[in-house]
Amino acid sequence: MNAATDPKHLSTAELQALDSAHFLHPFTDHKGLAAKGARVITHADGIYVWDSEGKQILDAMSGLWCVNAGYGRRELADAAHAQMLRLPFYNSFFNTTNEPAVRLAARLAELAPSVGGRTFQHVFFSSSGSESNDTNVRMVRRYWDLLGQPQRKVIISRHNAYHGSTMAGASLGGMGGMHAQGDLPIPNITHIQQPYFHELAEPGESKEAFGLRAARWLEAKILEVGPDKVAAFIAEPVQGAGGVIIPPDSYWPEIQRIVDQYGILLISDEVICAFGRLGHWFAYEKFGIRPDLVTFAKAVTSGYIPLGGVMVGDRVAQVLIEKGGEFNHGYTYSGHPVACAVALANLDLMAREDLPGRVKHDTGPYLAQRFTELKDHPLVGDAETCGFVAGLVLVKDKATGAHFPEDLAVGMVCRAHCFNNGLIMRAVGDRMIIAPPLTMDRAQVDEMMALIRQALDLTLAELQQRGIL
Ligand code: PMP
Repeated sequence: MNAATDPKHLSTAELQALDSAHFLHPFTDHKGLAAKGARVITHADGIYVWDSEGKQILDAMSGLWCVNAGYGRRELADAAHAQMLRLPFYNSFFNTTNEPAVRLAARLAELAPSVGGRTFQHVFFSSSGSESNDTNVRMVRRYWDLLGQPQRKVIISRHNAYHGSTMAGASLGGMGGMHAQGDLPIPNITHIQQPYFHELAEPGESKEAFGLRAARWLEAKILEVGPDKVAAFIAEPVQGAGGVIIPPDSYWPEIQRIVDQYGILLISDEVICAFGRLGHWFAYEKFGIRPDLVTFAKAVTSGYIPLGGVMVGDRVAQVLIEKGGEFNHGYTYSGHPVACAVALANLDLMAREDLPGRVKHDTGPYLAQRFTELKDHPLVGDAETCGFVAGLVLVKDKATGAHFPEDLAVGMVCRAHCFNNGLIMRAVGDRMIIAPPLTMDRAQVDEMMALIRQALDLTLAELQQRGIL
């Protein structure tokens, strides 16, 4: 019997040794991790996870922005179990389909609100956000080819955006560290600056004025590339992995004006922002924008099983369907029956508990009130929320907003204090971010806020003790 199938109990140390011997983790320095050993997460319930040492940790990141319905939801496991027994898999390539995929596509079309008369009647399924964005690149190019404008190839994205880790996903993303490894971006993808007020606003500039100026970087880029060569603009409504960058209110309407004026496609990457995260089923509704394609993944199943896809708006669907013939693109697991059955159960659960509505009207505003109270903390330069995502920036000098030197990795110091005190909060540079399960009630928000404040106090004490402050 080998280690993977041996039923004997494995100690934390044994698991860690096997982990570093065999498991290459995503976005991880393997040697560094092997030296300290990975934390082994064993089980979860509600808003908490537990590690193999029995430590309970409040998961303020919903796993990786995905467990919107919280952990331990039996009906999602039941849906998977029933579907696995009935039909665990069949493909949808060769003129075949399956009931969960059909029902889910129809359900998503119903949930996706129409804005400005445009609707989303069609869905293309994948298994992840990255794959979905690859699908977007294929669809956008096909669309313009079919319209007799094959020269429209350039997709504009933003620095510090995250759109996945495949060749196309990482190219669309604006992460310098990812581009540096592997000759990225691939051709015909270019980037503009992100709408990050805290870092890029001019002295004295209002948020509104900055939002307009940031949106106009898109127009400048279109003119630089040549309006007849630009195919699409892709963006997250709120940048997630980049550090919860919430654009000023003036940003999205101006972006919409620009994409309309130049006739280019708009892709809203809602892998994080959809399914209640910002208080709506889809985030484009919140910002009043009219995307042509919407990327989704993660919380469509609350992360219980991999599933992703693209909501294809009328403008693109009509051309692909009416003029396109066969679209030579697809994945083995496009419309996987088990994943789709879990998604249906998850969407039912979210609707029954009105998780988007709770975030919009109750717990979201409450989180906003409690989170912005952190602005009184000596380390906090700014603290803001949007629905159930939130970010704060750690600063060296509150009065001037001066940052800590990068090499001190103050965000990581804070993150360690969070972990040690039973809280998962993510650090992106010196921004500390959260995206808690949408099931959280007000008392749990209070519990989380107490842990965050405690971690900030401990970080402050450590920085003072090390003579940094
Ligand atoms: N787009 C966005 C906005 C994301 O946040 C992510 C993942 N964090 C992706 C795409 C990629 O999704 P996946 O990891 O499922 O491929």
